[in-house]
Formats: sequence, C-alpha cells, structure tokens
Amino acid sequence: MSERVLRSPLRGWSAPLEEVPDPVFAGRMLGNGVAIDPLEGTLYAPCDGQVALLPATRHAITLRTATGTDILMHIGIDTVGLGGEGFEACVTAGQAVRSGDPLIRFDLDRLTRRVPSLLTPVLLLGSPAPQLTRRIQNCAVNVGDLLLEWAAPQAVVAEAPAGYEEAALTRSVRVALEHGIHARPAAQAAAALKGLCAQVQVHFQGRSADARSATGLMTLGVRRDDAVELRAGGADAAAALEALAGLLSKPEPNAHRAVSRIAAAPASAASKAPVGAGGALRGVVASRGLAVGPAAVLRRQEIAVAEPGSGIDAEAVALRRACAQVQAALERSLDGTRGAAAEIITAHLALIEDPALHSSALALIGQGKSAAFAWRAVIRQSIEALRALEDGRMAERADDLIDLEQQVLLVLTGQSAAVPSVASGAILIAHELLPSQLVGLETGTLAGICLAAGGATSHVSILAAAAGIPALVALGAALEHIREGTTLVLDAERGELLVDPGAATLDAARRQIARTAERRARERLSAQRECRLADGTRIEVLANLGSLADAELAVRNGAEGCGLLRTEFLFLERQTAPDEAEQRAEYQRIATALAGRPLTVRTLDIGGDKPIPYLPLPAEENPALGLRGIRTSLWREALLDEQLRAVLAVEPPGQCRLLLPMITDVTEIRIVRAHLEDACRRIGRTAAVELGVMIETPASALMVDSLAREVDFFSIGTNDLTQYTLAMDRGHSLLAARLDGLHPAVLRLIARTAEAAHARGRRTAVCGGLASDPQAVPILVGLGVHELSCVPAVIPQVKALLATLTLEQCRERAASALAQDSAEAVRARCAAWDEAAGEPAAALRSVQP
Ligand code: PEP
Ligand code: MG
Repeated sequence: MSERVLRSPLRGWSAPLEEVPDPVFAGRMLGNGVAIDPLEGTLYAPCDGQVALLPATRHAITLRTATGTDILMHIGIDTVGLGGEGFEACVTAGQAVRSGDPLIRFDLDRLTRRVPSLLTPVLLLGSPAPQLTRRIQNCAVNVGDLLLEWAAPQAVVAEAPAGYEEAALTRSVRVALEHGIHARPAAQAAAALKGLCAQVQVHFQGRSADARSATGLMTLGVRRDDAVELRAGGADAAAALEALAGLLSKPEPNAHRAVSRIAAAPASAASKAPVGAGGALRGVVASRGLAVGPAAVLRRQEIAVAEPGSGIDAEAVALRRACAQVQAALERSLDGTRGAAAEIITAHLALIEDPALHSSALALIGQGKSAAFAWRAVIRQSIEALRALEDGRMAERADDLIDLEQQVLLVLTGQSAAVPSVASGAILIAHELLPSQLVGLETGTLAGICLAAGGATSHVSILAAAAGIPALVALGAALEHIREGTTLVLDAERGELLVDPGAATLDAARRQIARTAERRARERLSAQRECRLADGTRIEVLANLGSLADAELAVRNGAEGCGLLRTEFLFLERQTAPDEAEQRAEYQRIATALAGRPLTVRTLDIGGDKPIPYLPLPAEENPALGLRGIRTSLWREALLDEQLRAVLAVEPPGQCRLLLPMITDVTEIRIVRAHLEDACRRIGRTAAVELGVMIETPASALMVDSLAREVDFFSIGTNDLTQYTLAMDRGHSLLAARLDGLHPAVLRLIARTAEAAHARGRRTAVCGGLASDPQAVPILVGLGVHELSCVPAVIPQVKALLATLTLEQCRERAASALAQDSAEAVRARCAAWDEAAGEPAAALRSVQP
C-alpha cells in the first residue's frame, strides 16, 4: 500500500466536507478530506500509524503516519460535549496501529439521539492542507475501501527565529472554553492568527505547541479552567496575543447552530431518529411552497456487479445491446412528453450516445472487465471529473449520469427498476433522486420532496418546480434518519423541514395550504390582465426563460414578455456550440411562442463558473472574477458575431431586444455596438435593435449616468450584484443564508441605478432573483423599478400582489428598507408588512418555535 493512501475507517456514506454542519470542518479550517455518515459503531485505522492524540472524551482520534501526516477522525459533530459517554477506546495514546485495527467503538443509537450530526470528518491536517489527488465521496463505503490519496509534501512548521525567547511577549490565560482546546478552537486559533506576523507558542504543564498547529494545540490536552501561558515574538506579537487570549478566554458559542438548526430529541431508547418531535432541518429551497404529509422514505437501489467479464466480445456486445435498449426506451418516453421532462430525456439521450463513454468502457472490457463493471467505472470517473470542476451546475449534471448508470446496469443484470411507490399526499425523503425516478412517479399525488443532497439548479429541482411540487434540497445526512410515516411539515418558503411538529403547527400549516390554494386559483384567473398598481401605475411583469417550454408556461401564467432569455442554456450539455442557424431557429421558436410580446435575449453569460467543454478557458484562480459574461464574448468574438446575427434575424424585426451581461463600463458597450452594426450590415437589417445592459457589478451600478448615453435600458441582475457587493460567492452553501439581495448595500445600488436611469429617460428592470421574491417586489417598485422579470411560476402571484399596493406604499417600504442596517432588519420589516396584510407565510411563522 502506498504511504499516502487512506482507507475508509467506517462503513457508511462518504460525503463532501461541505455537508458537515460545522463551519470549522465544512470550511476546511482544520484540513482537507471527506465526512462519513456511519452505519456502524466502530472506527478503524485508515492506515498504519501511531496514535498521536486521543482525548479523554474519546470522540476523536489523531493518527500520525510514518511520513508525518496527521489524520484526524472526529466522530460526529459537537460530540466533545458528551464527555466520553457512549465512546470506548480500543487503543491508547502513543500506540502503533495497523490499517484496519479497531480504534474507537461508539454507541450509534445514543449518539444519534444526542448530537446534531453523525457526519464524521476524516481529515488530513495541516496548513496548507496536503493536496488530495483522489477523494471518494458521494457514495457508500465499506471499512477498508479506498477513501483518499494525497501527494503534496507535508507543510513545514516554521521554526521560531533566533532571539524569539528573549523578544517574546507573554500572557497568562485561563481557558474558558467549555471543552478545553479541542478541534474547533484549535482550528480557530490558526485562523485568528492568519495574516499576523508573529510566532506564537502555547505553554502548558511543561509542554508547548505552536499556536498555528491544530494538532499541536490539541495534543496539549488543555481543559476548561486550565491556565496556559502564551508567548509571542515578531512584529505583530501584541496583536497575536490579544487575538489568541480573546479566543481562549471566552466560552465557546455553539458553532453549528448558525448552519444547521436541528433540535435535540428527547432521549428515548426507542427512537433512532436524530431529529425528534418538534425538530427542524434547514435546507435550500428548490421549489417554493408548503406541504404537510407523512414521510415516504426512498432507499437507494443497490445493484451488485461482478468485476471479471466472461469474454471480451460477449461483454462488448452485452454493453452495446444494453445501451441500445435504454436508448430505445428513452426515445419511446420522449414521444408525447413536453416541457422540462422532455428536455431531461433529451439530455439523457445525448449522454447515452456519448462516444467517449463508450470507448472508455470498451477499453476496460478489453482488460477483462465485465460490461457492468466497465460501465459503472466510466460513469463514476465522469462524475468525479464533473464534481472536480467545483461548479454547482456541472456537479448537478452528475445526477443524470448516475441515472444512466442505473438504467444500463439494470438491463445488464436483468433486474427491473424499483419504481418508487409513494402514497398519495406523502412527502418523499431520499438521499438524492434521479430525474427518471421523479418522471416515473405519480407526481400529481406527491405532496413534497426532501433530498439530503442536491442543489437548487439540478434537473430534479427544475422538474419539481415545473410540476409545482414544494421541494427542499441539501438538507444533509440527518434527513436520512427520518422514519417512514413520520409527520412532516415541508416549509419550502423558509427552507425548513419540521419533523413531527405539534398539533398547533400542523393545523396552521394545513389552514395555510388551503388558503394558498384558493388564492393561487384566484390569481391565475386574473393573471392575463395588464399589471397595474392599485393607483393605476403601470408595472410590466415579464418572465425569465431558459427554453421554449419556459416560454409556453410563462405565456399561460400571464407574462407580458421575456425580460431575460438565458441563452447559455442552449450551449450547455452538448459537444459543440450550436451554429448560427440552430440558434436562430431556437430564438425564433421562443419569439413565436411569445406571440409578439418582447423577447430580451441576453448574449452568452458563459465562462468562469459556467464552463463549456468545447470552449476551453485559461485556468483561473478566481473564476467569478475572471472571463465571464461579455468578457468571454469579446475574447471569442466569432461566437458573439454568430449570436448577434442569429438574434437579428428573428422575425418580426423589433421583437427581440439585446441584453449584455457583466458590463463594467462604456468601453465594452462601444465594442459590442461595432459588432452589432457589422452584423446588421451582413444580414441586411436596417431596423435598430434595442440594446440594454445588465447592472450586476457594483461598477456598472455606479456608472449608470455614463452608461445611459450608450444604451436603451437597464436590467439589474440582483444575483450577481449581491454576490459582488457582499463579496460572497453565490454558490457557497455556508454563506447561502447571508447572501440576501435585500441587504441595504444592494438596495442602495438599486436605488442609485433607478434614479440615474430615470434622470436620463431610461427604463430600469430587475431580472435577478429579487424580482421573484414577493417580499422584495414592493421595495423594488418603490425604488423606481418599472419592469420585473420573474420565474414563470410566480408571475400570477407577483401581479396580484402589485395590484393591492399603491406607488406611495411601495415608496414608503423602499424608504424604510433603505434606512435599515442589515438584510435581517429589512426582512423583519417585510415580515411585519406581511403579517399586517395577512400574507400566508405569516400565519405559520407565528406558531412555530
Ligand atoms: C443575475 O445575476 O441576477 C442574473 C439575472 O444573471 P444570472 O443569474 O444568470 O447570472
Ligand atoms: Mg448574472
């Protein structure tokens, strides 16, 4: 065995660290690795080594390998607080162990009831963390399975410079941390000292450790009320002592609370669920709505596969036949299917025909592997490659590959798919759901969907939203402990799943669902009317589209046009770029479906975080700040020219408007104008097309007066404007709750944009997520926005809401929001307005804990 390999120390599910509900682990403050959700209560050695650290609480263990790498395994989250209860050590500190030796036995049932999460981080410690070359995650693992491989040389801990002892400042501190210096404060110490030019040592009972070394600090075995001495040298010594003393002398806040709000269950021996009566899990809203129903738990269908094949020719033929059979079945199911489901089947068809997958599988068959083994191996490799892109949207395409893997393996092994049968009115609970499984379900009778994994832009989320099924994703591993039949309230407005709530909450939820259904029916009836405020002020409500199916739904829901066509969706999930003719045909179909209503076509917003395989971009350290939007189009001008010609050719002339993403100043617009004039000349168009720009960088928001001289309209992309204003990655799961476009800083930029645009006679639209948020809509209008472009499903609701408010009322709300000092404060104001207006969400909130 290589020295830089870790085997799984547990049987369970290997998950990405981001799923751990503790920022210290999820944010990799201690090191890099995976987290395992255990199915059995014994932790085994993942490699040969020596027990470097085994705290008295026995909830964690650190092994040191022969090459000096420290491996931390931390059983569950917040388990240090159990004081050793439920843990039994099989080894002692300093003992040499061999890979596979039992290290700690733990009482799985007891922990399940007592702690917020059993996810067990398995980490390579160090700063910088050793570089992983292989990471097995998002799959079941057995003890001893390959888990991690790493390559980087170990980090060298800086020696204290000569003269350190003499120059050092010292300070005595009594440690107030409830559980002493354990993993979390040790990681926080290193973080607190980051950027400071100081060497800091912590001395305790004759031993000392570098304060930046998490392992070193933990090894000191410091408990609460112990007195330690801090010594620091270097330019920032005083600041370093201050920071470290502050950290150690304050009681530790409950770190996971901000991320995961899971109520501890009463300790009843019969219960296995970690989320007890009245508990709640937080997730990401994939499809809005509220549902009440019993849990219907969907277990993963495991398909056993033999590795050796029975002859190269036989296996190759078997694979070809199986793929052909799946392809034929997909083509059959495409007949008569429309909308999002049809698009997903089409995507699966493209994947099953992918020559690269087939040639890799045939190569493995050539090495003597079975067809099933080879197919699974190449699919898993592709999934790893997608996930390595660290782009949420790409990683979510992995669901489609898993789906195809399953479909082909079922044919190869002669098994039939377990069609999930879910009782009418139930809420489906699963780790993840394959698009084909959802398509196969009677979605009309499903009350809701809750997934432990997944993302808001996955195909399953799109399908759920299209079918109007409330859905939460990324609820974490704790979801899988919910038992069949448990009563649930799925609040996909606030992003919460309430487990076995009290009668009052259930009653309130049921009443609210009934009221919402009546209300939505009324709203749909009047959705085709022109949108006006109660005082007659005209506000246009348009739709954000990604496809023809969206356009058809939008028109049915009363959209007054399209305020944003995200053309990049046409370019994703394919091997080559659509040519000019294909683009023109697709834009024309959408324009025709809109029946004369305006169609705002945004030029490609691709690159950086939305890579496409056939357009390799230079490697970027920070893709969100790199080549994306208009920058990519100007870097590949031929693509821009084709797209401009395709849009200009749409009939009738004038129905299409052009919108440019990620603009920062007039230079970019002037270059695009030159391309536009050239494109008009080439296709013989004389009529001018309206040209607008997205306001989604703080720079553009501050430059609207100058931009107004060059363009006809503005459309504010609040998703990116929020990301760039708050300096928070819009795809970061730990920051998701704080990434709120109602932050007053963002609102001030919107106000400034609308005011400057108005002064120069330009229209201002909003096409980012805020335009689909009922709490934000009145504020946007009050700030001076004339046009909202929303997801098609919310259009009737947005139109109905606006009809109840006057411009004066909207302005009052906007002024009040601008005067708040945080997004939370703005949301609190919104909740008060909702409550006063008897908005549905308010009723449930008032009875929840
Ligand atoms: C936005 O940033 O708000 C926007 C509408 O663009 P996208 O979400 O496609 O980046
Ligand atoms: Mg954007």
